[in-house]
Amino acid sequence: MKIAKLGELPPVGEVPDKMHAIVIRQDRYGDPINAMQIEEISVPEIGDDEVLVAVKAAGVNYNNVWACAGYPLDLIGLRQKKGSALDFHIGGSEASGIVYKTGKSVTNVKIGDEVVIQGGIWDPVEPYVVNGGDPVISSSFLSWGYESNWGSFAQFCVVKELQCLPKPGHLSWEEAAVYMLTGATIYRMINRWQPNVVKKGTVALVWGGAGGLGVMALQMIREAGGIPVAVVNSDEKKKICMDLGAVGVINRNNYKHWGGMTEGDIHSEEYIEWRKEVVAFNKEILSFTSGVSPSLVIEHPGESTIPTSLFICSKGGMVVTCGGTSGYVGSFDLRYLWVHQKRIQGSHFASYDECYAVNEMIENKRIRPVLSKVYNFDEIPLAHQLMKENRHPFGNMAIRIGY
Ligand code: NAP
Repeated sequence: MKIAKLGELPPVGEVPDKMHAIVIRQDRYGDPINAMQIEEISVPEIGDDEVLVAVKAAGVNYNNVWACAGYPLDLIGLRQKKGSALDFHIGGSEASGIVYKTGKSVTNVKIGDEVVIQGGIWDPVEPYVVNGGDPVISSSFLSWGYESNWGSFAQFCVVKELQCLPKPGHLSWEEAAVYMLTGATIYRMINRWQPNVVKKGTVALVWGGAGGLGVMALQMIREAGGIPVAVVNSDEKKKICMDLGAVGVINRNNYKHWGGMTEGDIHSEEYIEWRKEVVAFNKEILSFTSGVSPSLVIEHPGESTIPTSLFICSKGGMVVTCGGTSGYVGSFDLRYLWVHQKRIQGSHFASYDECYAVNEMIENKRIRPVLSKVYNFDEIPLAHQLMKENRHPFGNMAIRIGY
């Protein structure tokens, strides 16, 4: 078969020559609405340790907003410098689908298996990993469908066998495509960084509580017996957060101290004004927690919020960050770090075990995917554009592709 119609797939195991794909090229870098275009691309060959998956549905994540921009990384150029002959990027770091072809050394999946794809790639025979090192910290770690090519915004994607997990039977294809990236990232943020992990009674602040990471954070903190407080930008999003376990939700538009700190006198007017606002913000948090400060802050907005995050974090607590949506330059008043012996911890995606644990939580219905809206294949640029402008619906968005 030359190419399957969009929304249709050939019989399981029959691989067409070409596929429809959403493609980013360097000369289109910019807004997603222009950067991403539908093209017909040859279905790639797979390596011995790889699997070709027919994509039923894909999840939308912020990383491909960055991929469209070519900022902070020109991913296509970087891969070419490392020897890749490909002059395009097919993004998409989450998928549900059916295995159509397996490489010679693949043992954990077979043709016809229904799978959920996790978005972390590493070399399992890298000595650091073989010796028990954390694969996410290994030198071979890559984000699939972002740093690597052949992601899920196409009829077929190429993954390593370690990326395949069984699809929970009770989920639709779209639901199965939207929880792994944000879910596993949050799982690691709240469980990995001992001793600052979520336990019974841990108060945690969750920025963007109705966003992709936020909806997973609220549920997982609730499940661990923690006490999550959410921050959002509108009163309409408050109910979503409360339904997922938040004990209180703050509308950040009621405060005006956002942005990075500038160098200068800590007794300046600006600093006194900033402190007044952040103290009021803190007071609202404490009103939901019987006066207990968050010992964990789930950070990802970055530049705009990190000074506040560090201030409101309890003594000995941890601000754990995985992103910089509002900017990458973090600033804060160092005194709150050292005098109160707080910690700022970076965290990036997840290991196989952490992804597996998330799948179990979904399978056991302890948490659920929060699927807001399903878009068609040709709406992938629109979904990313809305995300870039923070005008996208709450929770996680899916793309229907293979049916
Ligand atoms: P999302 O669905 O857009 O949610 C993020 C939420 O953050 C938004 O809903 C928004 O909520 C809030 N927000 C945006 N700008 C803000 C600002 N200036 N101040 C305060 N809050 C702000 O995106 P996501 O999937 O949760 O991802 C968020 C970030 O984390 C992205 O930058 C992404 O690249 C990164 N990330 C990193 C990893 C990793 O492994 N390192 C994994 C997943 C995501 P309100 O407007 O309602 O407040």
